Amino acid sequence: MTTAHVTCPLCEATCGLEVTLDANQQVTRVRGDEQDVFSRGYICPKGASLGALHHDPDRLIAPLLKRDGEFVEVSWQEAYDEIARRLPPILEQHGRDAVAVYAGNPGVHNIALTLYGRVLYKALGTKNFYSATSVDQLPKHFSAGTMFGDPLAIPVPDLDRTRHLLILGANPLVSNGSLMTAPDIRGRLRGIRDRGGKIVVVDPRRTRTAQFADEHHAIRPGTDALLLFALVNVLFAEDLVAPGRLEEHLDGLDDVRELARPFTPDAVAPHTGIGAGEIRRMARELTSDNAVVYGRIGTTTQAFGTIASWLVDVLNVLTGHLDTPGGAMFPLAACQPTGNRRPFAVGRWHSRVRGLPEVVGELPVATLADEIETPGEGQVRALITVSGNPCLSTPNAGRLAAALDTLDFMISVDVYLNETSRHADVILPGPSPLERPHFDLAFYQLSIRNVANWTPATLPSALPQEWETMLRLTGIVAGQGPEADVAALDDFVAADVARRAGLEVTHDRTGPARLVDLMLRAGPYDVTLADLEAAPHGVDFGPLKPRIPEVLCTASGRIELAPEPIVADVPRLREELAKTADDGLVLIGRRHLSSNNSWMHNLAPLVRGGNRCTVQVHPADATRLGLTDGGLASVTSRAGKLQVPVEVTDEVRPGVVSIPHGWGHDADGSRTRVARANPGVNSNLLTDETFLDRPSGTSVLNGIPVEVAPA
Ligand code: SF4
Repeated sequence: MTTAHVTCPLCEATCGLEVTLDANQQVTRVRGDEQDVFSRGYICPKGASLGALHHDPDRLIAPLLKRDGEFVEVSWQEAYDEIARRLPPILEQHGRDAVAVYAGNPGVHNIALTLYGRVLYKALGTKNFYSATSVDQLPKHFSAGTMFGDPLAIPVPDLDRTRHLLILGANPLVSNGSLMTAPDIRGRLRGIRDRGGKIVVVDPRRTRTAQFADEHHAIRPGTDALLLFALVNVLFAEDLVAPGRLEEHLDGLDDVRELARPFTPDAVAPHTGIGAGEIRRMARELTSDNAVVYGRIGTTTQAFGTIASWLVDVLNVLTGHLDTPGGAMFPLAACQPTGNRRPFAVGRWHSRVRGLPEVVGELPVATLADEIETPGEGQVRALITVSGNPCLSTPNAGRLAAALDTLDFMISVDVYLNETSRHADVILPGPSPLERPHFDLAFYQLSIRNVANWTPATLPSALPQEWETMLRLTGIVAGQGPEADVAALDDFVAADVARRAGLEVTHDRTGPARLVDLMLRAGPYDVTLADLEAAPHGVDFGPLKPRIPEVLCTASGRIELAPEPIVADVPRLREELAKTADDGLVLIGRRHLSSNNSWMHNLAPLVRGGNRCTVQVHPADATRLGLTDGGLASVTSRAGKLQVPVEVTDEVRPGVVSIPHGWGHDADGSRTRVARANPGVNSNLLTDETFLDRPSGTSVLNGIPVEVAPA
């Protein structure tokens, strides 16, 4: 028996786990690491299934090549030869933009793909870069970028010191936190109660978090921006605005006052379904000590996602709770991005067909199908997916899946032959999470405590590490062919990181370990990778500290409280006030503790307990529509139609139906036996690629108009 201490790479919570292996290197037990400096023994069902993932017989163990429509296992040399034969001619004949990239969410939890994926994308030089970010969180990057000058400067609730937490559109007891790295959410929310504090949840569903909260408001989907503006309105109207020490760093306070004027509680109440008196009380409560507003996916995946994301931070500023203990604070991770910081800019290029703007270096995935289907110069003819399953996770997934079959060439870097990679010509698998080192580069930037934990690979891998795969692909697109010198490319990458960090490049390590070591040396805590290696339970750098003005990167050097690109969208929201409150049926998503978007449904321990993929309908709507619990419903939107079992429950508010995302594992040709036995339906057959948050281009996934009838 051996024991390894690892950081769980499956979600944003970064829990420390203790993995026990027998002499045959079989994982016999996974449990929470009680000595982990951050998670202190917490574990969820997904983390406990790390062994099942490692031993999953459906995980790919060799590259696959499609020959005559069938996948066959081939050597790595054969796979790269095929890529070198087919990809460069597309680049040469049709230009760099003819090859698109889609990077999925698991890549952000993978240090090799995070650090070396960007090397490939840069070498590719395509404007057609897409990722899961434009499915669910681009509005937050947009608002942080325009307010603070840095799209990664996202304030997080200082959960361990707050006393009043207003949560909108988030269910952290189930998601384990998002854009907020905080293991053991339940324990931390309990801590708020123990300090005599209060938790208020605004959500169309009575989620687990809403059930735990002191107060729940079942808002009409898509109206969070109206509610948030009304809270701002009350603060000004009742002379409660008190930014405190931030006042000297603020621009735009009077503009916000004017913008909020029409959004009175009485004006927004009929739209949100929350009474004007309740809104006034909620606003007053935000002025209490250590209060904070936190919004997540329900606020970012709606038609006014950027405005809602902005107003969350505006409220924290107006109440004096931004950058103060117990409020919303900026983490200071041990690894900081190297190089000069430049003020945020959007729209540096636009998508060819619909003219949608670039945000943080990517185009909205809602327009990928347009770019593949529409002939002309710059048409996308080849696609590389990296740890992504856009055929399940992006809007109008049915249209995208059909478009993928028209590509000249497609590569998937993926551990499974799934609903998306089945369209590929070549699939390049990677090692299991236990066979690669791990470091949460992205999530320590969002952590409610400044911590760092390096996990070496627990087991050797028979597969190449993904950083080598990324460099091999880089060599091919850079014209060096499949025999490119990967070690030399790695030296080149490390030299570039060292130069930007103002350091000498080192040669005692390779791959991500060397890059992380360089970034640690350039970081704020005077630590090296060797220090982290000597601390298998992590290093705690302490609670968050105020960072304004040092964190700001706007051209003015101040907080732009009324940034022009967001202010320009406010008239669109104002038009909503003039409309009659809509009472049509709308669709929202939901999430389960044992689900991780689309990619862990092939693990038996996580799909036990019956079909979770149902359409939840309120009893009043069920009676009106003739739906019965356990019966089958037909759900139709502009984009598509599907049939799904009905679950009648008052967890959803009247007028709202809910289907979880990430399901629909019944596609021909996928090789995920457990998932295919429990397929569920793909809710993204209903979401609409033309329905977007306008500034960021992010898909609207919550608040889709639908019709529901007995099937
Ligand atoms: S909460 Fe997230 S990080 Fe923690 S064990 Fe579960 S999946 Fe892993």
